[in-house]
Amino acid sequence: MKKHGFEFSKSLGQNFLINPSVCPRIAEQGNAKQGFGIIEIGTGIGVLTAELAKRAEKVVAIEIDKRLIPILEDTLSDFDNVKIINADVMDIDLSKIIEENFKDLDVAVCANLPYYITSPVIMKLLESRLRIKSVTVMVQKEAGRRLCAEMGTRDMGAVTVAVNYFSEPKILFGVSRGSFMPSPNVDSCVVRFDIKEETPKGVEDERFFFNVARGAFSQRRKTLANSVSSSMGIKKSIVSEAIVKSGLNSNIRPEQLSMEELINFSNILKNISNL
Ligand code: SAM
Repeated sequence: MKKHGFEFSKSLGQNFLINPSVCPRIAEQGNAKQGFGIIEIGTGIGVLTAELAKRAEKVVAIEIDKRLIPILEDTLSDFDNVKIINADVMDIDLSKIIEENFKDLDVAVCANLPYYITSPVIMKLLESRLRIKSVTVMVQKEAGRRLCAEMGTRDMGAVTVAVNYFSEPKILFGVSRGSFMPSPNVDSCVVRFDIKEETPKGVEDERFFFNVARGAFSQRRKTLANSVSSSMGIKKSIVSEAIVKSGLNSNIRPEQLSMEELINFSNILKNISNL
């Protein structure tokens, strides 16, 4: 970094890993192995990229900061199986990347994510129904707890619903703040989402289902009836009717719902609200 006169950008979430034991563990537990192509999001100076490239057949790494590209040409010069794309991950067509680069390979995503876009990136990866086996990412500890919460528990939020819908989530290990430079104010953890081959059955309208999930958790600690009614603009009497018809307690809170209960409630609400 000194050689290239590089300075960290706080707004791009640049906290680079300096603890040498962490990247090999992410790579090993993130499906970086023969037969796999890996998409990495946010390379920094390439410490994780190198560990992925040692193990996987091919790595395509997406990095927004063009100042890092000449540094990566230095640090990754030993590898001929790495392609760097200078782009914003939110703008890029990931299914095209997969088809162009990983034709005969299984695919996995690995990343030490920039924390300012943790949820949008994870939602993009899951909702685009990409041909991927797993997503293994470093996130802030609190975010990890929410992402990997079980349905029906206090830690859950709308993102928990999406994560559980598309994958089987698991917290792999914790990483202390001292493992990064500069050191952030919070500890982190590495989580893996193993993508399900089939999503849960019975959802009549997926878009409506996710709107209900977002609405239900938009005002935490309110009852399901109040939060869905105010966030989706549906009369409270209609939402309450759907709750009762779903066989749920009228004062139920969103964080008490199981996946099956939420699916059933959203189907009934859609039918009686005519939305
Ligand atoms: N992988 C490196 C490591 O572990 O040391 C860097 C991780 S750092 C937490 C996040 C990286 O993501 C930074 O290099 C940053 O420039 C990059 N980044 C931030 N926003 C991005 C975006 N929208 N698209 C692609 N890369 C992004």
